[in-house]
Amino acid sequence: MPPAVIGIDLGTTNCVVASVMDGKITLLEDKQGQVLFPSVVSIGQNDRIWTGSDAIALGATAPGRTAYAVKRLIGRWYTDEVVQRAVNNYAYDIKENPSGGGVLVKLGAQEYTPEQISALVLKGLLDQFEARHGTRPEEAVITVPAYFSHSQREGTQRAAAEAGLKVLRLLNEPTAAALSLPSTNEARLIAVYDFGGGTFDFSIIHIEGNVYEVKATDGDTFLGGDDIDGLICDELSKSFEEKTGVKLRNFPLSWYRLRDAAEKAKKELSHSEKCSVYLPRLVGSDSMITEISRERVEELAKPLLERSLAICDRTMEAAHMHISDINDVVLVGGQTRMPLLQAMVQKYFARPCASGVNPDTAVAEGAAKEAAMLRQGGGALLLDVTPITLGINIAGNRLYPLIPKNTKIPTRKEHRFTTHRDAQTKARMVILQGDHPVASENSRLGEIVLERLQGFERFHSRIDVAFEIDASGILHVKASDKDTGEEQDVVIRDSFNPEGAAPAGQLQDEESLSPSQQDLPPSITGPFRATELLDVLYFLHANKKTGKVELDGPAGPGELWMLDGEITHARKDDQIAVDALRLILLMGEGHYAFHEGETLNTPREIDAPFGQVFE
Ligand code: AMP
Repeated sequence: MPPAVIGIDLGTTNCVVASVMDGKITLLEDKQGQVLFPSVVSIGQNDRIWTGSDAIALGATAPGRTAYAVKRLIGRWYTDEVVQRAVNNYAYDIKENPSGGGVLVKLGAQEYTPEQISALVLKGLLDQFEARHGTRPEEAVITVPAYFSHSQREGTQRAAAEAGLKVLRLLNEPTAAALSLPSTNEARLIAVYDFGGGTFDFSIIHIEGNVYEVKATDGDTFLGGDDIDGLICDELSKSFEEKTGVKLRNFPLSWYRLRDAAEKAKKELSHSEKCSVYLPRLVGSDSMITEISRERVEELAKPLLERSLAICDRTMEAAHMHISDINDVVLVGGQTRMPLLQAMVQKYFARPCASGVNPDTAVAEGAAKEAAMLRQGGGALLLDVTPITLGINIAGNRLYPLIPKNTKIPTRKEHRFTTHRDAQTKARMVILQGDHPVASENSRLGEIVLERLQGFERFHSRIDVAFEIDASGILHVKASDKDTGEEQDVVIRDSFNPEGAAPAGQLQDEESLSPSQQDLPPSITGPFRATELLDVLYFLHANKKTGKVELDGPAGPGELWMLDGEITHARKDDQIAVDALRLILLMGEGHYAFHEGETLNTPREIDAPFGQVFE
């Protein structure tokens, strides 16, 4: 028998493994018949590694040797807000990786990267599978949140490789949930609302036969059931401190017990109105004996649930869809068992949510289906989209978006850039993900350095940059110098490898590129995004153009005049040019037109020449 091929829902809190056996989807069960395997790793005596529910049991006595929720740390900088929150909240030690700026998890005397911990979780799953079915899977489809970035996806792939698994495909969790639905021939539009332990994902998917087309996807990688648990912990620990004067956060073991109790209480309150919390001898001889009501937990959770609905709003808008276009709403993720959540989602979509979908296992089931189809050389036709804009920095600390968010993948985009100053022989392009027009406000994925440019006059070099996103959402980048015909010294340094470089904040303008002239003919008219409009203005500035630029966007119409490349006057409710340029940044989608040679009679000098405005 060939080794089994499996689908793995690698969750923040729990994992689920499914496979297709004799044409039927089978869920992996542990000895107790449980299908949820906690995503927990604990290092026991003599450095023995425990995973799953064994690790949870050990964690109760050795919180500093027990890692959970590492999915939130994968592919992230130590300085990321998400990581910092984990540093403050988790019972185990998280520190900065001195080589590369990523994260290290300290369990006992050992240090691990989040990928290594995830690999241990995966190995634990494979051991269980082998023990149960007598064969060790070698290939898998692994699911990730749709909103996972490139580095988070790559981290997941590295974890799988370390566990000895070949990833047939990384599949977005909402798409996997859609795949788990029984197939019908009717075309339909479904909304997948996935509120799990650590992340929230929302996707709008069009299904027709075997074709699954994601219309738009969005989410928040720090919004999940854990956050509700955290709020309950805060509430309980505050009243404990008032009674005893003891700050529970200073006692890792007590905090671990409190988190566990808070989560249990939250789950119980999904089917009862009140729940008692009893933690004997929580610190010294002080016990926690209290009660918490469903009403109070709902009050605490409501702002988080509202945040998820704001993301639904944003996604519907991006897909140009209206709530009445949705045929089915599918709830995924353990937290969707909360009655308040169900009520709020049903109210939002003005319809009951689809029944018959198990929120815990749907994602793994869909992944198993896809894995089995891929094994047979088929697979559903999955037309996914990329969740985050990808681009490079250009002169002026600006982001040049090469692949905007919600672009269908796989995709390949190539763009020509040019040098920004005379005799420039080096170009450093920082690969960025994010939507902020200011480059350094986005996340840095790596960089490409071209070191032997011809040193032409500015705007004359020709450098082609190609971004390619494969079906798993992984980015491949290539840059080539068209003047030498060579692909020169392309160094893509992943942010988390030992050679990691400076964070995006330290971009050097003199090595940056500008968009190439041929992309920005001066007489072109929009519609364009604000960042592209800035490129046009930069081009006009660099080429010392004279004329009028008419703008129109959500912030209203405006006009700019340029004389020999400098902005001399702007008209938008009598604002001066600097304000008008700020306005452009706020314009989002808009239209513009450039009328060459059209000038004001009395051009007015302003203090800030264009090139300095955004420094
Ligand atoms: P997942 O990542 O999909 O495994 O979801 C796990 C999250 O769902 C955790 O935060 C759990 O506390 C939460 N959860 C599981 N069951 C329930 C329940 N019955 N009521 C409320 N939350 C639940």
